[in-house]
Amino acid sequence: MSSLAGCRPEVIVVGAGAAGAAAAFHLARLGRDVLVLDSATFPRTKPCGGGMAASVQRWFPFDLRPAVDTVIERVRFSWALGDPVLAELPGEAPFWIVRRSRLDAYLIEQAQGVGARLACGMAVEGLETTPGGWSVQVREPGGARLALQAQAVVLADGSGSRLAAPLGLGPRQPRFAATVSVELEGPVLDPAAARFDFGLVRHGFCWAFPRQGGYSIGLGSFVGRDGLEENAVLAELLPSLGFSADAGVRTRGRLRLWNGHYPLHGAGLVVAGDAASLCDPFLAEGLRPALLSGCEAAAAVDRWLGGEPEALAAYSAVMRRVWGDSMAWGRRIAQVFYRVPRVGYQLGIKRPTAPRRIAQILSGELGYGDIAQRVIRRLLLQRS
Ligand SMILES: Cc1cc2nc3c(=O)[nH]c(=O)nc-3n(C[C@H](O)[C@H](O)[C@H](O)COP(=O)(O)OP(=O)(O)OC[C@H]3O[C@@H](n4cnc5c(N)ncnc54)[C@H](O)[C@@H]3O)c2cc1C
Repeated sequence: MSSLAGCRPEVIVVGAGAAGAAAAFHLARLGRDVLVLDSATFPRTKPCGGGMAASVQRWFPFDLRPAVDTVIERVRFSWALGDPVLAELPGEAPFWIVRRSRLDAYLIEQAQGVGARLACGMAVEGLETTPGGWSVQVREPGGARLALQAQAVVLADGSGSRLAAPLGLGPRQPRFAATVSVELEGPVLDPAAARFDFGLVRHGFCWAFPRQGGYSIGLGSFVGRDGLEENAVLAELLPSLGFSADAGVRTRGRLRLWNGHYPLHGAGLVVAGDAASLCDPFLAEGLRPALLSGCEAAAAVDRWLGGEPEALAAYSAVMRRVWGDSMAWGRRIAQVFYRVPRVGYQLGIKRPTAPRRIAQILSGELGYGDIAQRVIRRLLLQRS
């Protein structure tokens, strides 16, 4: 018999990634009985550059630095590996590189430390409403099926979520960036510099983030359905970092992007992180909104369980205000920038103020709305 048979938590969190672990931590800390289900076994790897503004620390009462691999001090932008700009990041807005295997395991350990339970190898296949809340259908590691009951559910099952759209959460037809990630082991040119190149990838960019003993390389294409042509891009990028053109293991993926304002809640149900289509459509930043939405989702579900019927609608509203409104401008910038990237690089990225503005966007100090009108006007004027 399953070890979970008869288990009836107040909240089931589906997915123990950044969003799910953040939600589980805060719910358990507020005294809620929480069960986290993940189809993977932890610690698990996850294709991700792991770049994250240190400002996320403010959402957690424990120190996140044990999960930090590298502290970035400067950024190097380039166009097809030439025409570089090197900029020191403002000291007050540091940027961290984390390994996802370490960060996600660390976050879920913190959640377990305040009482959340984690069940690994548990693939959630469906959800149904019941008079008391939700019945969550789970396939266990051996293949057996199990139905678990809870009053509330937090969906945080990532970019590949099949659960959110049928429940009316987030966009019915999500939009995806095509991605490739490569982990490289070997010497690093500048261990405190993150590199971004805007000229090698069509309708997107590639990045090289230094970490202990190597690089996390990523390619992302954000507009249209063009292939990434990763082998051609990597054949230029990797030798520029001192690696052979075919080095590293390549993992292709799809990253669900922010694509409009949609409800992120239902009755006793909220969606967070990539499953909620929160990822920045211009810079592919997904960790910060995953953590933020996990924290906000936990506060909302706690209030809802405490008898505030409007608390879950307030979650959708707060995510729109603190994240979606900025992403609406980010999407417009992306649509213009990635169609004329060479102009965008010259007029946007190479400006003396650009690195500071990007650091301020990534730390949450500024939203895209604060800079958008000026940026779009500059790009459109140049095009006409
Ligand atoms: C190549 C690449 C590079 C990136 N680089 C960066 C970066 O540098 N900085 C940044 O901010 N963002 C980056 N991102 C985006 C970032 O990785 C995501 O936005 C982030 O992982 C979202 O976290 P999450 O918790 O929503 O989802 P995830 O971290 O994907 O967690 C979802 C969890 O749900 C589990 N799950 C899935 N389905 C089920 C199911 N049916 N039942 C049970 N469990 C399930 C999965 O096993 C997983 O553990 C990158 C993405 C890609 C693809």
